[in-house]
Amino acid sequence: MKLLDGKICAASLVADISKKVAGYVGSGLRKPHMTVILVGEHAPSESYVKSKIKSCESAGFESSLLRFPESITEPDLLAKIAGINGDPSTDGLIVQLPLPKHIDPQNIINAIDPEKDIDGFHPTNFGRMTLGQKAFRPATAYGICKLLQFYEIPVKGKHCVVIGRSNIVGKPISIMLSNDFEIGNATVTLAHIETPRQLLLDETRRADIIVVAVGIPGFITEDMVKEGVVMIDVGINRLENGRIVGDVDFERVAPKCSWITPVPGGVGRMTVAALIVNTLMAYQNNFDLA
Ligand code: NAD
Repeated sequence: MKLLDGKICAASLVADISKKVAGYVGSGLRKPHMTVILVGEHAPSESYVKSKIKSCESAGFESSLLRFPESITEPDLLAKIAGINGDPSTDGLIVQLPLPKHIDPQNIINAIDPEKDIDGFHPTNFGRMTLGQKAFRPATAYGICKLLQFYEIPVKGKHCVVIGRSNIVGKPISIMLSNDFEIGNATVTLAHIETPRQLLLDETRRADIIVVAVGIPGFITEDMVKEGVVMIDVGINRLENGRIVGDVDFERVAPKCSWITPVPGGVGRMTVAALIVNTLMAYQNNFDLA
């Protein structure tokens, strides 16, 4: 069993980008700029935002964190987004989810300029991604693709099983792995909460690659997988003792895997790295750089 190490892969991607940025800045351009909006107080969001800002520093980007109180109204938040959409000094905009209950996240996502939508959640980018066109691809799914590429894991012709159909992870990764794109050309099964248990087991037991994003600790057990499977664990679950674990019973499943992502230090790191890749793309688009 070998680890698909998100820390190593993310650091390598960010280091390459920082060299490019140094070149752009050396030629007189401003730095790429990511703006993050954080509404209210939510401990996991604080930590995700912190790591995004830290990665911006490592990449040589500028970053801005705009904090708004839990009580901000949807119209007021939409007005803030409109302001950033119109501000040429910001290349990429993230609105950290989840949002307070009185704000509809879809209205917020739809309001972000698709050219600044580095999370890749806007319907325009999701549509372009689905059609195999140039797009900001949803960051977690894109990060998984980058990780598979970095470790030269064969995907073409493989049987992938994706478990979980969220718009941010399961759905986009199932599309990306099946598309004829940078990495893909796999045969993909998308399982979800309505998938009958026996059908799920039949699929996972013959899968070459499993991507699991359900948010249930220990969901993938040893008896669900074949020897040599590549396991991508997207889950981030905080146990009562404070430990962070994924959706895979790592201790028992890992010995059967050819490759597996650790949690933490796997997909989470790649999500942030993909945001950096997307921000660079937004910046390059703005300045007509290759
Ligand atoms: P979600 O929480 O919105 O939905 C869970 C999905 O799991 C649903 O599509 C549901 O159909 C499926 N599911 C639930 N129980 C199931 C079952 N018994 N059998 C089959 N499918 C089942 O999904 P999400 O937002 O993608 O989050 C999933 C996990 O991934 C969470 O732990 C979340 O914290 C984590 N996550 C991690 C990252 C990262 O960067 N590593 C990014 C996003 C989400």
